Amino acid sequence: MTVSAFVKLDDVAKRWNGQLGVEGITLDIPEGSFTALLGPSGCGKSTTLRLLAGLEIPDEGKILIDGKDVTTSAASDRNLSMVFQSYALFPHLSVAENVVFGLKVRRVPKAERQQKLHRALEITGLLGFEGRKPGELSGGQRQRVALARAIVAGQRLCLMDEPLSNLDAKLRNAVRKDIKKLQRDLGITVVYVTHDQTEAMSMADTVVLMKDGHIQQIGAPEDLYSRPTNTFVAEFVGAPPMSLIASKALPGFGEDKTIGIRAENVQIAPKGEGRLRCTVIESEFLGSETLIGLGHADATGLCVLKPGLSMLSEGNELDITFADENLHVFDAAGQRLAG
Ligand code: ADP
Ligand code: MG
Repeated sequence: MTVSAFVKLDDVAKRWNGQLGVEGITLDIPEGSFTALLGPSGCGKSTTLRLLAGLEIPDEGKILIDGKDVTTSAASDRNLSMVFQSYALFPHLSVAENVVFGLKVRRVPKAERQQKLHRALEITGLLGFEGRKPGELSGGQRQRVALARAIVAGQRLCLMDEPLSNLDAKLRNAVRKDIKKLQRDLGITVVYVTHDQTEAMSMADTVVLMKDGHIQQIGAPEDLYSRPTNTFVAEFVGAPPMSLIASKALPGFGEDKTIGIRAENVQIAPKGEGRLRCTVIESEFLGSETLIGLGHADATGLCVLKPGLSMLSEGNELDITFADENLHVFDAAGQRLAG
């Protein structure tokens, strides 16, 4: 572990009656950074966040925040704020009352409360909505109230667990940008849980990809995309996922390896001049290009992008090619080999 990390988890594990939550979680989070915990449902994202928050106590390992060992500290002693998927707003309180609720509990003087409220509503674009009840707001506005409440708490560390999953796609996009901007402007450290790789890749400085309670890879979004450490990462990150080909289908790679290739690196070859002969399964028009899904007995997720609208008939044969330099090579266990 480096000394500069603001938040550290050191070999943290959590189990319930022997059932695994997370294990071997080691993570250094610098101050002012945006870290996404990404992975499929049940992989341990929320457990990791709850351990950080003090809502769970680990069975093994240590947690440090701002240099202080908080492994067994109460949530209230950790100086952090949280935003959840369910907004957890009080329905009978107004926007303003919801936002300053915590400050009132802490007996912050009224003038200071008002000033902080104003600033938080300004930042979240909620000025003018002070008197409304949560029931009189849209989903996006409610989520912004929850954000405003986290902001007035004035903590340097904010933990968010799937805060956007109740919003429709368009709103999710907008609030995603709001959160990112807020994090930058306020210089706070955000740890953000999501199962949505697009969300993680577009928002985070560092993505922590998890599976079955274990970290698979930690890195910048472009690292995970261009150098996935194993076939799970290769298929989880990116849209479309990386295509995987059994090496026996490609001369020169041996029998027991898996070869990965991304759609943008696949080209359609003249008949008889490609490296793989495939069958067209589907054509998906994406707007600026068309994604052609391809079938091959030794491959999964093969596809190629064609510019513009270019629908190919299902069942047609198509030869494809790709340059060796764009291939990712994984061993029999799915681990990345050099390169
Ligand atoms: P995620 O947030 O990535 O969907 P969770 O962290 O909620 O996943 O869960 C990770 C694993 O821990 C799952 O197998 C889940 O069933 C288990 N788990 C989480 N909380 C509890 C609990 N309170 N008791 C027992 N098992 C739990
Ligand atoms: Mg969860």
